[in-house]
Amino acid sequence: MSWEPVIGLEVHVHLKTRTKVFCRCPVGFGAGENTQTCPVCLGFPGALPVINRRAVEWTIKLGLALGCEIAQHAVFARKHYPYPDLPKGYQISQYDLPSCINGKMLLPTAEGDRVIGIVRAHLEEDAAKTIHVGGRSGRIGGADYSLIDFNRGGTPLVEIVTAPDIRSADEARRFLQLLRQTVVELGISDAEMEKGALRVDANVSVRPTGSDELRTRTEIKNMNSFNFIARGIEAEVERQIGVWDSGDEVRQQTYDFDAATGTLTARRSKEEADDYRYFPEPDLVPVEPPADLVEALCAELPELPAERIRRLEAALDLDRATVLVTGGLDRLWGETVAAGADRTAAANVIANALVGAGVDLGAVSPAELAKLVGARDRIPRTAFDEAIAKLGDPGFSAEPYLTQEAVADSAELEPIVARVLEANPGQVEAFRNGKQGLLGFFVGQVMKETDGKANPRVVSELVRSRLEA
Ligand SMILES: [Zn+2]
Repeated sequence: MSWEPVIGLEVHVHLKTRTKVFCRCPVGFGAGENTQTCPVCLGFPGALPVINRRAVEWTIKLGLALGCEIAQHAVFARKHYPYPDLPKGYQISQYDLPSCINGKMLLPTAEGDRVIGIVRAHLEEDAAKTIHVGGRSGRIGGADYSLIDFNRGGTPLVEIVTAPDIRSADEARRFLQLLRQTVVELGISDAEMEKGALRVDANVSVRPTGSDELRTRTEIKNMNSFNFIARGIEAEVERQIGVWDSGDEVRQQTYDFDAATGTLTARRSKEEADDYRYFPEPDLVPVEPPADLVEALCAELPELPAERIRRLEAALDLDRATVLVTGGLDRLWGETVAAGADRTAAANVIANALVGAGVDLGAVSPAELAKLVGARDRIPRTAFDEAIAKLGDPGFSAEPYLTQEAVADSAELEPIVARVLEANPGQVEAFRNGKQGLLGFFVGQVMKETDGKANPRVVSELVRSRLEA
C-alpha cells in the first residue's frame, strides 16, 4: 500500500514592536536577563494588561496578506497551564474569536499554484524563557537546575495555523520559506529562526494514497531551522508508515526531533482544549477594528512574494525565481539585469557566489555587479571571487578585476587536464559510465592546479572532449 503524508503547521512569529503586547517593557533579544520586566509581564496580582495597538494592526496586516477575513469582534482569552515561565498561570491568547480566519497562501509549483489553507492567525503573548543548565542538549531531563529569563514574557506573538493541506516535507519547507519572507517584507518581524523569532510545530499523519480520511496525528514541537523541520517531518512520516504497516495503530503523541541524531523522542500526551479551561480575559476589551483602519492596512500591502515568483518565472525559471524571491534577492537581480547582465547568469551569481560571500546586499552597486557577471567566464576565478567579496565595500569598482584574463589557451591547459585525468582513473571510469556530474569535479581539480587562473568554460570543454573521445 502507498501512503500520503497529511501535514499542517503551527507557526509562531515574534512581532518586532518596540514594546511588549500588554505592557510598556521593551521587546528585544540579547538584553541582560530579567532587565526588561514590570509588574504586568511578571504577573503580579492586580497588574492590568493594556493592548499594544501596533501589535493588533500588524496581526491584521498579516491576516490581509494571507487572504484572511478580518474579525470585527475578536476576543482575548486566558489559556491556563502551570509552568514556571508563565507567572500568571495562564497565557493571554485569542481563542475562539481570533482576529484573522479562513485565509490561504498560494505556493507556486511547476504544476501550478498549490493552495494552502490558513485556518486562523491570532495574537497572543509569548512565555518567558526557561534555561536548563547541565544535562543534555538544554532539556530539563538530567539538568542540574533551571533559570528563568522573564524578558521574553509578553513579547507579541502571532500564531498562524494552516489547514492539513501540505503533502510533503519539501512542500512544508517551501511554504515556510515563503511565509517567512512575507512576514519580513511586511516589516512586522525579522523572523530570525536562530533567535527563536519564528518557531514551528508540525502536525503529521499519513493515510492511504487517494483516500480523504484523516488518521490520528502526532505533533513535532519547536523546530528551529527549515532543514530540521523537513527532516523531522520525514522521520515522523516514515515512523507512522512503519506503525500502520506492522498492523499497529499510531497514537496521539507529541515529539521532539533531535536534528543531531535524527531521532524523535516522545514528550507528553497532547492536551485537549478542555484541559486549558479557556475563558474570556476580563481585563481586556474585545478587538473591534474600524473598517477604515482595515482598508488602510490593506492599501499598505506590497506586492507579495508568491506573486513576484510568478512574475519572475516568466523571465527566469521557477527554481531560480523562488530562490531569489525567498532570499529577498529579486530586487537586486532586477537592477543588475537592467544594468545589462544576462538574466540567468545574474541569478546564479547572486544566489550562489554573492550570498555565500556574506556581502552586505544593500551596499552592492548593480552596475558593478553586472560588469562582474559579464566577465565571470573570462577573468580568473580567484579575481572573480575576490571582487565578489568586496562588492559591498564603499566605492567598489570592478574595473581593476576586469582587465585580468583567465588562462584560456588550450595548449597551455591541455597537459594539466591530462594530468588530472590520469591521477583519477576511478572517476574517469565512472564518468564514462554515465556519472556526468563528475565534470565539475575534474574542472575543480584543474582550477586547483592552476591556482584558480584557468578559464573554467575552456577547461570544461577540454575535459569533456578528452573523456568523450
Ligand atoms: Zn512588562
